[in-house]
Amino acid sequence: MREKKGRKVRRPVIAGNWKMNKSLAEAEELASGLKERLKDFDDADVVLCVPSLYVESVANLLSDSRIGVGAQNLYWEEKGAFTGEISATMLKSVGCEYVIVGHSERRQYFRETNQDVNRKAKAALTAGLTPILCVGEVLREREDGRTEDVVSKQVVESLEGMTEEEMLSTVIAYEPVWAIGTGKTATPEQANEVHELIRKLLAQRHGAEVAENVRILYGGSVKPGNVYGLMQEPDIDGGLVGGASLDAGSFEKIVRFERQGP
Ligand code: PEP
Repeated sequence: MREKKGRKVRRPVIAGNWKMNKSLAEAEELASGLKERLKDFDDADVVLCVPSLYVESVANLLSDSRIGVGAQNLYWEEKGAFTGEISATMLKSVGCEYVIVGHSERRQYFRETNQDVNRKAKAALTAGLTPILCVGEVLREREDGRTEDVVSKQVVESLEGMTEEEMLSTVIAYEPVWAIGTGKTATPEQANEVHELIRKLLAQRHGAEVAENVRILYGGSVKPGNVYGLMQEPDIDGGLVGGASLDAGSFEKIVRFERQGP
């Protein structure tokens, strides 16, 4: 078993969150560019979380590559009169493999609660998708010394009732909200402190096997210049990358954990 700072190394996940960006032609160009740049790469699970509308074409384009495709949201019901919504089974049917749930932008702008996130994660798992479940505190909560309480509540409530098997198929992303899209990154030590807290909670509530194996990503202004330092921390198993995933060159450097960068 490989180790870093004396701890187990889990296979990293690097997921790009394209958010509400790009035309279909631009999306296909970015996906093709990454496919070419990463054709020799197998040191991490690489995922592109694209707008739902593009999942099918990007999944088709990447079907002969190791890069996975994800969505950025879903609705927990399987089908029915839910105008405008998209279910986990629908996403799965067009080649989707992952889905982000509970991103802070959805919690903030669409009032998603931990209970909503829990339903979404369970719906994803039932359909065979890997949820990338996001938690993280806002600036005021950090400044008030409430990071631990806030993140613990999010973790406990969002993962409520999940079986060990479901937990092992879930990826968690710690994204301090004050670091998302702001250019401010948590220091590797600040980030790892919260990852360690999440892992302890997983151990208490879901057992040692889950705590040891669940991958916990850091998200918040990850860039080529800071990814290497973050990835040295024992409890950081990859990244959820927003802005820097929209450019093939930057995203490739992040995926390869390059030491230097712009
Ligand atoms: C995100 O959208 O999840 C994110 C971390 O964004 P950024 O990398 O731009 O901060």
